Amino acid sequence: MAVIYLDNNATTQVAPEVVEAITPFLVGEYFNPSSMYEAARGPADAVVAARKTVARLLGQARPSEILFTSCATESNNTAVFGTIAANPERRHIVTTAVEHPAIFEVSKDLERRGFEVDFIPVDTQGRLDIGEFVRALRPDTLLVSVMHANNETGVIFPVDELSRITKETDPSIVFHTDATQSVGKLPIDLRGSFKHVDLLSFSGHKLHAPKGIGALYIHRGTRCRPFLLGGHQEDGRRGGTENVAFIAGIARALELATESHDEDVARITALRNRLQEELVARIPYLEVNGGDAPRLDNTLNIACHFIEGEGILFQLSEHGICASSGSACTSGSLEPSHVLRAMNVPFSAVHGSVRFSLSRYTLDAEIDTVIEVFPEIVASLRRLSPYWDTGRDAPTPEAREMLEQTEMPQSPA
Ligand code: PLP
Repeated sequence: MAVIYLDNNATTQVAPEVVEAITPFLVGEYFNPSSMYEAARGPADAVVAARKTVARLLGQARPSEILFTSCATESNNTAVFGTIAANPERRHIVTTAVEHPAIFEVSKDLERRGFEVDFIPVDTQGRLDIGEFVRALRPDTLLVSVMHANNETGVIFPVDELSRITKETDPSIVFHTDATQSVGKLPIDLRGSFKHVDLLSFSGHKLHAPKGIGALYIHRGTRCRPFLLGGHQEDGRRGGTENVAFIAGIARALELATESHDEDVARITALRNRLQEELVARIPYLEVNGGDAPRLDNTLNIACHFIEGEGILFQLSEHGICASSGSACTSGSLEPSHVLRAMNVPFSAVHGSVRFSLSRYTLDAEIDTVIEVFPEIVASLRRLSPYWDTGRDAPTPEAREMLEQTEMPQSPA
């Protein structure tokens, strides 16, 4: 059975051009770029060239401002822990209620260690409360960390405006953005609209490079202590032999994303919008999470009332369709995602959320298949749901009352 891959916010297919760019450093030029002999010149030059390319494509940053890491999780941890280590005098952090765990869990951990952290709330569409953001900034704020685009809903935060407000309030506050879902999808201009951003994280495997490579932009002059101590690689900012092949790969992937950006956006937006319109038209009690907010063109997160996302994913998988749900199976209980909880998605829908995320490799025919298959999956699961009256093909009267509730109703004692 052919796979229909619609989980590109989780990871992406490696582009053939990227495979071509990395292969020489795996099969022939495997030398350590720090070595002194002539043979190592090729890998060393490749790292220099990749750094220049990444810097240029993020809006003419300086090559020395780009640090290669192993993934966005490492970039985020480096940004946060590096900033804390370099600035021990301040202990207040501002972030959001909907960050990826690579910032959210780090922030929770810091709270347990005595830092004060403000998690700025979002509205029901996933939009950040800017008023709360402004009020949260304090004279002892050390770091602001706000993601650019949300991995679950695709909702885009106005990082340009938030970083400007931050610097106008206090230029010494360090501003970090987790741009893992936006690099390659949205233009990033570190000398223009993002000029107030000090630190920016991203990862190769979200933009058709392999897993195991990431990057952190560190604006010149930003105080950020090295996170991985060891050798003198990366100008002494990250110990560890450089992943030459994948460094070449992330640069090539960013080049490809930039070259085909306008064309990709037009195609992907049309496909995503068609998927959304058809599913909304064909399925009752279905909502688009973040549908009214500015969103990534490739992401569609829908909430199907009265059924479980896991059931949907299982049945989609039977048709070869790969997608994600908004729940994580933790310690035996299906916990809805903290992102959808923060958006106050009603209880009857929060468990039935499914995310489709497209890429430039998504085909029209694949979207046709989902449009055909998905409504029947939802209908069949609803027939099994205690909240659904199969005879009337409608929710039960009790279920109707739950439509607006955000907490699980108490069962009668
Ligand atoms: N930040 C965001 C917004 C993400 O979507 C992800 C991955 O899903 C990460 C960080 C972590 O990326 P990585 O797997 O490269 O560590």
